[in-house]
Amino acid sequence: QSQTPEALRVVNLLQERNLLPLGPVTPPTPCLPQDLQKINCHPEVFRSTLTSIPQTQSLLNKAKLPLGLLLHPFKDLSQLPVVTSSTIVRCRSCRTYINPFVTFLDQRRWKCNLCYRVNDVPEEFMYNPVSRSYGEPHKRPEVQNATLEFIAPSEYMLRPPQPAVYLIVLDVSHNAVETGYLDVVCQSLLENINALPGDSRTKIGFITFDSTIHFYNLQEGLSQPQMLIVSDIEDIFLPTPDSLLVNLNECKELVQDLLRSLPQMFGKTMETQCALGPALQAAFKLLSATGGRVSVFQTQLPSLGVGALKSREDPNQRASAKDIQHLSPATDFYKKLALDCSGQQVAVDLFLLSSQYCDLASLGCISRYSAGSVYYYPSYHQQHNPAGVECFQKDLKRYLTRKIGFEAVMRIRCSKGLSIHTFHGNFFVRSTDLLSLPNVNPDAGFAVQMSIEENLVDMQSVSFQAALLYTSSKGERRIRVHTMCLPVVNSLSDIFAGADVQAITCLLASMAVDRSVTASLSDARDAMTNASIDSLTSFRTSVLTIQQPGLLAPACLRLFPLYILALLKQKAFRTGTSTRLDDRVFAMCQLKYQPLAYVMLMIHPALYRVDDLTDEGALNVSERTIPQPRVQQLSVEKLSRDGAFLMDAGSVIYLWIGRNCNPNFLTQVLGLPNYAAVPLNMNMLPELDTAESQRTRAFVGWLREQRPFFPILHVIRDESPLKASFLQNMIEDRTESALSYYEFLLHIQQQVSK
Ligand SMILES: [Zn+2]
Repeated sequence: QSQTPEALRVVNLLQERNLLPLGPVTPPTPCLPQDLQKINCHPEVFRSTLTSIPQTQSLLNKAKLPLGLLLHPFKDLSQLPVVTSSTIVRCRSCRTYINPFVTFLDQRRWKCNLCYRVNDVPEEFMYNPVSRSYGEPHKRPEVQNATLEFIAPSEYMLRPPQPAVYLIVLDVSHNAVETGYLDVVCQSLLENINALPGDSRTKIGFITFDSTIHFYNLQEGLSQPQMLIVSDIEDIFLPTPDSLLVNLNECKELVQDLLRSLPQMFGKTMETQCALGPALQAAFKLLSATGGRVSVFQTQLPSLGVGALKSREDPNQRASAKDIQHLSPATDFYKKLALDCSGQQVAVDLFLLSSQYCDLASLGCISRYSAGSVYYYPSYHQQHNPAGVECFQKDLKRYLTRKIGFEAVMRIRCSKGLSIHTFHGNFFVRSTDLLSLPNVNPDAGFAVQMSIEENLVDMQSVSFQAALLYTSSKGERRIRVHTMCLPVVNSLSDIFAGADVQAITCLLASMAVDRSVTASLSDARDAMTNASIDSLTSFRTSVLTIQQPGLLAPACLRLFPLYILALLKQKAFRTGTSTRLDDRVFAMCQLKYQPLAYVMLMIHPALYRVDDLTDEGALNVSERTIPQPRVQQLSVEKLSRDGAFLMDAGSVIYLWIGRNCNPNFLTQVLGLPNYAAVPLNMNMLPELDTAESQRTRAFVGWLREQRPFFPILHVIRDESPLKASFLQNMIEDRTESALSYYEFLLHIQQQVSK
C-alpha cells in the first residue's frame, strides 16, 4: 500500500485555522514521469482544473469538480523558441502540431497523441537545425518545447498579412471635455507614437464625436489636419475615400499636430449629446477593408442615434438582497456590431471614464464579441481624481506599447474522447473549437469547460494543444503553439489528489458570471456554494475510509471553501453591500477575461504586514533586495493598531495605517510626523533616503511589476473614504449581511453531513 500523498492528507477545516501558505499558492504538478514533466507546458500559460484526468464522465460526475482549462496563450515570455521551417509537421488526420508528447515508433513514423494516427516523418524533419545533425527527429525543437512559435508559410493566410492599423475614437461631448481625459490620451499617444507596434506600413486614424461624427483628413501635403463633419448620423458614410487612415511614418507631423490641438479644440463645447453608436458604425466602415484595432474612449451613456441607451440602474437597489436586475444587455446593437467587426478582423477596446451609470452590460458587448478589452475608470476627473489619472496614464502606456497580433484564430484541441463544450473570454466562437480573435493581446486570458465523451480506457495520458495563428505587427504570419500533457486516472482519490484549487475557483467564477446573466445572481451564488458542498461530500463519502467528525477536506482543497466565500463577497457576486451596477458588471468582465494570477488577487487579495520589513528571506532581483513578508489571513483580527498592512487586491493596493502605528514607519516611510498628519487621499510613497522607505518601495514596486496593469495605491487610515473598500476585502469576518468564514464552514459542514 502506497503512502497517502500530501495532496490527500485529511484536514479538518473547523480545527485548523492557519491554512494559508506563507507565500504564493503553487499549482499542483501533474503526476507524470520525470522526463515528460520536465518538458510540460508552463502552468502560467496552460492549466487544468484537474491535473489528473478522470477516465470516464461518470467518474468525473462523482467527483463533483468542474473539468476545464485556463489559458494565457499570448503572455509575454522571456524565452520563446521560434521555428522557421518550410514544412510544419502536423497530424494528417486531426491537424495537431507535432509536439513533445508524440511517440516515435521508429525514425520515420510518429504517432499523434491526440487522435493516435500514425504519421510519416517528412524528410526535412530528419535534419536538426539546433544540433546541425541528421537522423534525430526526436531532438527537433518542435519535440523539445511545449511552447514555441512557427513562422507560417503562405498556406496559412487567406490574404497578404495586413499592416497594423489603429483607429482612435474619442467622445468630445461637454461631459467628456469636462473630465479632462483628452489631454492624457493625446499626451500618451504623442509620447508613445514611435513605440506603437508596427512597421513602415502602420496606419493610423482619428474620429471624434458628440451629436455629430468628425473625421480627420491627414493627407500628406496638407498644412494642417482637416476636420470633416458628418451630421447625418442616421446614415453614416465616409466623407472621403482615403486619407482618413494614413501611413503613420509618412504623416507623422500632421498626426502630431492633431494630437497637440485636439484637447483644446472642444474646450468651449456646448454639445451634451453623444452618438456613440453611429461613431462605432463609422469606425467599422473605416476599418472594414483592412481590419485593425479601434480604441474607443467614452464618458457617458450614449444618448443619440442607434445604440442610444437609457439609465436602467435603480440606485435604491444597489444594496438589495433580492436579485440584481439588468446584468444582461438592453439592446443587441453592440453585440451585432461586434460580430460585424469580428468578421472584418476589427477589434474594439472600450475605455469607459465616467462618474455616472453608463450601462456597461450593454456597451461591453462591443469588446466581448470582437476580442477587445474593457477598461473602466469610475469617477474619472483630471483635477478631482489624480490617482485615477495616474492609473489611466500607466494603463495607456502599456496598452499602446504592448505587442499585438492581428486577424488571429485560436484552436484548442484535446485528445480523442475529450470535448470542449463552453468557452469563456472575449472572442467569437466560429466553429466548435475555433475562436475568432480580430486582435490578440498579451494580457488576455481564456477558459474552457470540457466533458469526457468517450471513456479514456487504456490511456496513460491525454494532451491539450492550443494553437494561435496571427499576423504580427511586422506583417509576419505566426503560429504560437502550447501543448500540455496530463495523466489519466481511474479512481476518485487520484482525481482529488490532482485538483488545482485556484484553477477550479477561477473556472467556477467564469461559470457563475454566465449563470448570473442567464439565470440570476442568487442561482449563481447557490451554484458556487453547492460546488464546495458537493465536492467535499463526495470526498467524505467516496474517498475517506475512516469517518471522523468535523469538516474534512483533502489538503489540496483546503482553501476551496475560503475561496468560494471570497467569491461570494467579491464585487461581482456580493449582495447586501451597496454596489453600483457598472462596478459589478466590470468585475464580471474581469473575472471572464483576466488570466488566473490576476483573477485570484481580485478574489482573494494578499495581505502583508509591512511596518517591520526585513531583508530576511528577501528576493534579489537585478541588484535590488525585495522583502518577502508572509501572507496574512483576510481578517481584522490580523491587523494590529501599532502596525501598517499592505493589501494587494490586483488592480488596487491598500496600505492601512494603524492608529498607534510605529512612529518610525510614519517618519521613515511616509515622511509624516504622526498619524493625524496622514492625508485622507494619499496615493504615493515619498522617495525617502531611509532603509525602511527603500524596502517598502521595493516591495510595492515589485508587486506592480508582476502584472501588466498599474494598481493604484491608497493609503488608508480610520477616517479615509476608502476604508470601507479595504475592510470589505476582509472576507473571513462577519458583516451585517454575510457569514464569517467560520460560520460558512459550519454551514457547509451541516450540508456535507446530511
Ligand atoms: Zn492526430
